[in-house]
Amino acid sequence: MTTALGTRIGRDLDLLEKAFGCPRPGRRLPPLDELILTILSQHTSDVNRDRAYRELRRRFPSWSGVLRVPRSDLEDAIRVGGLARTKSRVIRDVLRAILRDRGRLDLGVLRRMPADQAKAYLLGLKGVGEKTACCVLLFSCGRPAFPVDTHIHRVARRLGWVPSKATAARTHALLAAMIPARRCYAAHINLIALGRRVCRSRAPACLSCPLRRGCRYAGPLLRRGALRGPRRRPAIY
Ligand code: SF4
Repeated sequence: MTTALGTRIGRDLDLLEKAFGCPRPGRRLPPLDELILTILSQHTSDVNRDRAYRELRRRFPSWSGVLRVPRSDLEDAIRVGGLARTKSRVIRDVLRAILRDRGRLDLGVLRRMPADQAKAYLLGLKGVGEKTACCVLLFSCGRPAFPVDTHIHRVARRLGWVPSKATAARTHALLAAMIPARRCYAAHINLIALGRRVCRSRAPACLSCPLRRGCRYAGPLLRRGALRGPRRRPAIY
């Protein structure tokens, strides 16, 4: 990462770590469990994702059980996470494909594959996109992947790390090339925290933001003295 933008991103990541700490990976789920959990996380809160996942595992302690019941049973189990019809279809498609490809419902092999092959396999599963594949690689396989969620997409555009009209896919490609491999985990966690607590979709709390000086959105307002409001140390974790 040797460009001016790369240097700036590195400096911003330093500031985030200074403000919020440097989170380290915790306990890892097996790759297949992480994949299902990530599918359940789409368009819902972490709390409802976790509720849906807990109920799913309570009713189906083994993944093969999910394929032995009518889809409506699966839908019932994950309903609290929203989009139960779509998610149940994706989960069953994914489980069937893994069983067909690997002969068993286990993706432990991804941890032993080169990262690009593991990612290609995940992306080949119907209903699995870039963000989901990167979550499995980062959180379960300990690989240097950088998932871009809605918070990171918004923050990266406001900061000027990517063009203001960049699509999520473009932001993903640009950040994947610029976030250093060793910083992927902490950068992902800290940017999501920033997006949730400080750089909110509506009314970002720029005066409390550790990145405000270099921010494309807030910098000009700051120089004109146009930012108003209390300056607080954000509670992040
Ligand atoms: S300064 Fe404001 S707009 Fe920029 S990243 Fe921080 S909260 Fe978001």
